[in-house]
Amino acid sequence: MKIIDAHIHFRPDYEKFGFVAERAGHKNTKEHLDEVFEKNDIVHAIVMSNGDLSLENHTYPDNMSYCVGLDSNCFFNDTPVDYYIEMAEKHLQQKKCVGIKFYPGYTHHYIYEKMYEPFFELARKYNKVVAVHTGATSRADALLKYSHPFTLDEAAVKYPDVQFVMCHFGNPFLSEAAAVSEKNPNVAVDISGILEGNFDEESFYKDNAFYVQMLSAWLRYPSAWDKIMYGTDFPIVNIEKYIRFVKKIVPEQYHEKVFYENAKRIYKLDI
Ligand SMILES: [Zn+2]
Repeated sequence: MKIIDAHIHFRPDYEKFGFVAERAGHKNTKEHLDEVFEKNDIVHAIVMSNGDLSLENHTYPDNMSYCVGLDSNCFFNDTPVDYYIEMAEKHLQQKKCVGIKFYPGYTHHYIYEKMYEPFFELARKYNKVVAVHTGATSRADALLKYSHPFTLDEAAVKYPDVQFVMCHFGNPFLSEAAAVSEKNPNVAVDISGILEGNFDEESFYKDNAFYVQMLSAWLRYPSAWDKIMYGTDFPIVNIEKYIRFVKKIVPEQYHEKVFYENAKRIYKLDI
């Protein structure tokens, strides 16, 4: 079965990712990823970019597209917001750029605030996705009230013709995430980043049986198998173990959609 990984981070030059990749049983190199991709029939990946916004820092291999990331490093600091609007537009004009990614938990602004509107207008203009980090955060200085999946509801209602992606299914706020994606036809979901590292499968499934069951149940609640996408959040987790995890929580008849078709359609990938 062909697979699209709808959510990875790819910065081979970034030392911190090297440690994270090793913890997950990987290496933070293109060569290693190519090997893992080939072995597992992963034909394409979408990079959620981080770091600065200069176009030359965003070149990716043929088997990757990207969402330009407006994270806490490059948003809401002393640089005027006009710079970010201008750069976001330049990225959206690139064929490889399939959307914009926001991290409201880290930037301490609700995703429905007025300041995001120029970016949503751009996403609409170029018919590209707005991906939003939702749920748990990796740093304690982030604020969960801004990354809560409920916050996407208001943005989705204000911008019914913009395609949003709720990254990480709002984990662990699963019932709220399910409610928001069930209600709004323009909110899709990626199920990346729910597990971390090179976890021991036997003890994980034994110790977390109820959580895994609950996650699977909330994914079924919206009956929205046309908009749920597989993704890993590489380098944080072991890719092969994550594929097996997603196969467990998604009914088999929907694997093609979740692992491939939905991402191809939602991110309008020309592959
Ligand atoms: Zn991510």
